[in-house]
Amino acid sequence: MKIGILKETHKGEKRVSLSPFITKQLVEKGFEVLVEKGAGTNSSYKDSDYEGYGAEIVSREAVFEAAQVLIKINPFDEQDLKLVHKRHILMSQLFHKSSPELIKAIAEKGASAFSMDAMPRISRAQDMDVLSSQNNLAGYKAVILGAYEMTKIFPLMMTAAGTITPSRVLIYGVGVAGLQAIATAKRLGAVVEATDIRLETKEQAESLGAKFISVENNTEESEGGYAKEASSDYAERQKEAVNKSLFQADLVITTANVPGKKAPLLITEDQVRHMKNGAVIIDLAANQGGNCEVSKLNETINVNGVKVIGTSVAPESVSTNASELYAKNIYNFIMHLTEDLNFKWDLEEEITNETLIVQDGIQRKN
Ligand code: NAD
Repeated sequence: MKIGILKETHKGEKRVSLSPFITKQLVEKGFEVLVEKGAGTNSSYKDSDYEGYGAEIVSREAVFEAAQVLIKINPFDEQDLKLVHKRHILMSQLFHKSSPELIKAIAEKGASAFSMDAMPRISRAQDMDVLSSQNNLAGYKAVILGAYEMTKIFPLMMTAAGTITPSRVLIYGVGVAGLQAIATAKRLGAVVEATDIRLETKEQAESLGAKFISVENNTEESEGGYAKEASSDYAERQKEAVNKSLFQADLVITTANVPGKKAPLLITEDQVRHMKNGAVIIDLAANQGGNCEVSKLNETINVNGVKVIGTSVAPESVSTNASELYAKNIYNFIMHLTEDLNFKWDLEEEITNETLIVQDGIQRKN
């Protein structure tokens, strides 16, 4: 089976869906790997690195022409679809719930498509879960970005010229990104607080050294380990519980999401106006509408001396690691879906059933 790796064309994207090392693992299993020329350049991988591990470097057109499986990180776009044929099996993030046009267009081509972001969040799918692998890096990078934007350092420092008190970091949302943000900020010496609507996250936050801010009478339910949309009553009580910490914070990182919904609004403009001069908010949910009322995607907004940064590029900015992890997720997924180099198409099996969005031109999911 021939696997084709396409160079990402999405503006600002630096990642690539396969690393040279994972190429080697696929080649050892008997797959043929075709890589578009220059696909790994922005992740610090040379064409010769892929060649050294057994891949063939070819033009974009040649990848579409020869490969059966086409792999990307970002959704296939109009330009890609011009070259997609009936025999192709596409693998990328497709965000099918919010991109019905794209799914229809793939189906019209008669192709098949798996969506990496539709991976069920079950234990045996963990090593194929690209949302987790990428969000983990986003949580790390949010702290580093915050450190760069702040006018203070994180740790307590006792010097002959006086003592510097540690910075205070507040994290909203203790999921994959939030937990890594807590761990990173703690390692750098900050005093860290965190809050989440899911009660089970209290122990996880505390085990990493954060103080957990509980919201009084939290009776909000979660579903399959994921948050449901918070009631307006909860949102008000959350503000009351968190405001004191928010107004003292030097860095705030927001990561809160509810699957399939717009990101919950957790910090209003009025709250931002009460924050400390020089404080920084990094809104990792900006591409889902934002957790902060004033954040704008990939922009820095200054409100009364507080910098509000809405970013979607945290994993892209550490593209070497992000590509390595995405590639490992893809490798595990291909191993799961195939036997003797052929797709099993086992629709009774949960991971296949959830991720296969289009099969041979038939749309399976909306
Ligand atoms: P996510 O990105 O959907 O949300 C991030 C966090 O925001 C969640 O912890 C959520 O509870 C929180 N949140 C939502 N609304 C909120 C509100 N109004 N106020 C405060 N916080 C709010 O979630 P995620 O990080 O992708 O995953 C959540 C959990 O799922 C993880 O902690 C992990 O335990 C589990 N998970 C399991 C698997 C697997 O088993 N394959 C994979 C990934 C994640």
